[in-house]
Amino acid sequence: MFFSHLSKLETQFSLTMLEKSDQYLASLTPTAATLITASKLSLAIGESYPTCFEFLKACVDIGFMIKNYALLCPECRTITRIVSSLNDLEIDNEYCHRCDEVICYDETNLADNVVVIFSIKDITFPFVNGQQLVQMSTEVELLATCPRGDLSEAIRLRVVGFDELFSYTDENHTKLLQLIAEIKQPKNTTTAVGATLEEFCTYLFNICPIFRATRKLRTKTNQIDTFVRITSALPDGLFGIKTNFFAIECKNESTPPKGEYLNKLHSILRAMSAELGIIVSKKAPPNTFPVLAHDMFLKDGMCFIWFDLDELEKMVNRKHNLLSLMDQKILGLKTNSTRPLSELGLY
Ligand SMILES: [Zn+2]
Repeated sequence: MFFSHLSKLETQFSLTMLEKSDQYLASLTPTAATLITASKLSLAIGESYPTCFEFLKACVDIGFMIKNYALLCPECRTITRIVSSLNDLEIDNEYCHRCDEVICYDETNLADNVVVIFSIKDITFPFVNGQQLVQMSTEVELLATCPRGDLSEAIRLRVVGFDELFSYTDENHTKLLQLIAEIKQPKNTTTAVGATLEEFCTYLFNICPIFRATRKLRTKTNQIDTFVRITSALPDGLFGIKTNFFAIECKNESTPPKGEYLNKLHSILRAMSAELGIIVSKKAPPNTFPVLAHDMFLKDGMCFIWFDLDELEKMVNRKHNLLSLMDQKILGLKTNSTRPLSELGLY
């Protein structure tokens, strides 16, 4: 590593760690230097996997490396595709030259076969999208040892940040604004308003590549307005929530929800042993909500957070990050803060 790079990392990592990493990076072939992973670094220098992830992230932060994502064949671990953004990893078919088979990536196997790869910046990729790499005899060894769940660990350690997990394209930004306008339009029935609100929620949460949202989940006793599954990228959960799904209750009344507004969602969560429930309403929450939600958190460990339409409209208009806002609300609930955490400089 160049001296300027090394000195920037000195405050964060031990000298031994830096020396060992430097030796390892200097020993790499040009191809291997474009396919560095936390697990390979960990194996080579004997430091922990999380520390190696943090080190590689720091190398990206100081401009020494770039970060990409490699999609691997679930069978032979050959790279089938390399993308620079998680949004480009869609459910699709890819061809694995080594297995001579078309691999169908779906919700169940997509995220598990993604590896975060780091490349030293001034070394260019010797291939376009991964397939040409197959001609090189070393490609399997290069990523064969990467554990499944690499992406999950990267998200947990914030090596992959909220900005990468949620971003607006022009198309979905326009669609969200259009749905908000529809919710605000007077409708003949509250059912029609409710349907638009549910459609908005489902669309919004589906923008995030690690969420799958549906309006169609019915239980034996309830219809859930919007049900969101956190995909297999995160077996350990998100926001400190262990269950990999959550439920959203939409309140379309034109006056602030009253009285028993939390009961239905509470009973849905309890029946599923879920930990997170979200209320999305046209109107602002009643003043009693923060106290009630905090009591429920202390008593049952369940997190209830609330979004009203004004707040969501502001979020969409300013292109703020949904995940960051959720994280902020959950931490605000847990800490019982009297002020939004963004006002305290925490977000
Ligand atoms: Zn294969």
